[in-house]
Amino acid sequence: MLMEEERKQIVEYGKKMSAAGLSVGTSGNISIYDPETGYMAISPSGLGYFETEPEDVVVMDLDGNIIDGTRKPSSEHGLHTVVYKNRPEARAVVHTHSPYATTLACLHETMKPIHYVIMGSGVDEVPLVPYVTFGTPELAEAVEKVLVDNPKTRVVLLANHGDVCYQASLPKAFGLATNMEFNAQIQWQCMCAGEPKYLDDEQMAAAMERSKTYGQQTK
Ligand code: 13P
Ligand code: ZN
Repeated sequence: MLMEEERKQIVEYGKKMSAAGLSVGTSGNISIYDPETGYMAISPSGLGYFETEPEDVVVMDLDGNIIDGTRKPSSEHGLHTVVYKNRPEARAVVHTHSPYATTLACLHETMKPIHYVIMGSGVDEVPLVPYVTFGTPELAEAVEKVLVDNPKTRVVLLANHGDVCYQASLPKAFGLATNMEFNAQIQWQCMCAGEPKYLDDEQMAAAMERSKTYGQQTK
């Protein structure tokens, strides 16, 4: 099976995404890109994460052609494609409808530095893509524009829809989506309780510096 390992990982992380409450029902989608072949493996459209098998994952090229698989690919395949085209370092994309990130996106708010974990996004403020119908080339175009205008961000919010995160691997992209949901939850709770106290540029720069030596430093 073409991209067998990637397809298995997409199945595994689809279950994790669902179990973590980041995507209700069949919402959200996941892809992995292989720069050697130029192919992307992407979750199938509208199939429950616990019903999805590796052979249900679809392999496509970045021109929208199906290379392998019998299922219809995610309706957001164009959106995933623009991430890989505009961010050569991207190897995995996770799109979620996680509740708190989506809440901010429904308020047409950006995600702000209420907690230092926002630094995983690569920026201090995660930009918002204006509302466009899901699963359309127009949404992919709108995402592309925001990626071009914000060259450092690894995350965008989609107005009245959800978020999109990319990283150098699927475990990292999933971890990023989890941290973005946490930051969004804390921001929303602070907005409800009073006036949020956001970290300033200097505090964010210091957190970024500290993060360079955080953890086990194995890779
Ligand atoms: P798919 O099931 O087609 O991947 O769509 C889910 C979704 O989140 C659309 O934005
Ligand atoms: Zn969606």
